[in-house]
Amino acid sequence: MDKIYDVIILGAGPAGLAAGLYAGRSRLSVLIIEKGQDGGQIAVSEDIENYPGQFVEGETGASLIARMTEQAAKFGAERVSDTITEVSLDGEIKVLKGGKNEYRAKNVIIATGARPRPIDCKGEAEFAGRGVSYCATCDGNFFQDLDVYVVGGGDSAVEEALYLTKFAKKVTVIHRRNELRAAKSIQEKAFQNPKMDFMWDTVVEEIGGADLLSEMTVKNVKTGELTKITANEADGMFGLFGFVGTLPNSRMFEGILDMDERGYIKTDEDMHTNLPGVYAAGDIRVKSLRQVVTAVADGAIAAVQVERSMSDYY
Ligand code: NAP
Repeated sequence: MDKIYDVIILGAGPAGLAAGLYAGRSRLSVLIIEKGQDGGQIAVSEDIENYPGQFVEGETGASLIARMTEQAAKFGAERVSDTITEVSLDGEIKVLKGGKNEYRAKNVIIATGARPRPIDCKGEAEFAGRGVSYCATCDGNFFQDLDVYVVGGGDSAVEEALYLTKFAKKVTVIHRRNELRAAKSIQEKAFQNPKMDFMWDTVVEEIGGADLLSEMTVKNVKTGELTKITANEADGMFGLFGFVGTLPNSRMFEGILDMDERGYIKTDEDMHTNLPGVYAAGDIRVKSLRQVVTAVADGAIAAVQVERSMSDYY
């Protein structure tokens, strides 16, 4: 592709789409590149109750994102679906190589987000898709009237566990400590739900089964006691959902951009990375609160910084 865009935005989650909206409104030429579906992690969230102004009954992550996508397009942000595999970011013109094409821009906003962290137990990879899942919205209905276990104690674990009670016979949260990290309002709902149960101070050591997941060994981290859990004979299987935090999608930028020890990209408060013309926004960057509200704010700030860097007015 010969065109040199004012800005290319990598990733169409809340941060990338907000950046696209703001850059489009500033009449910059904008290309948003996304390899999968729009929305990133929020696209598979059933319930969003803390995005200001969003208290419409029935709103899901997917419906909120669909409107964000439409709004960015309305202001002229171009779109392409491609997977970028290589980047050259240190020159004045940044080059991004994808499976389908090569893209050029004067500025790049990286909004590639984060992905679920594995539970890290024996057998996990083997049983992915055969009882193990990381997306309640995608897979919840496969566990109709079955027992389901959810690992983690944060907002994601508890919210998704609550969602899974719509399908499952019982949902047991397995948490490594004896208190949840999730927001108190979410905890209250969970403790009141008769289908919810909790296994405290516990981690999953190993999972197994013949074809589908039907066995699990858990360990009490305080006593060291191991307990074997087997699926109800009539059910033949149970579900195990992992929500133990996230890992940044930043491998492509290793050795190019400054990162913390976990791989999150370092920026200043205006989203500048260590390279001129390269910005990072949303969950991919080092920050204290990863939410839709902070992601969209990052995207807006990054786009405004691009505009200012290209304008004589400021
Ligand atoms: P998180 O807040 O980092 O929580 C991860 C949970 O997994 C923690 O309870 C942690 O235990 C546990 N954990 C971590 N590593 C583990 C391991 N190896 N084995 C067992 N347990 C482990 O992650 P999250 O819930 O995915 O949320 C990510 C971000 O998105 C957060 O900022 C969260 O607030 C936000 N979020 C917000 C909403 C909402 O507001 N509606 C919904 C979803 C997510 P410890 O507590 O012991 O550390």
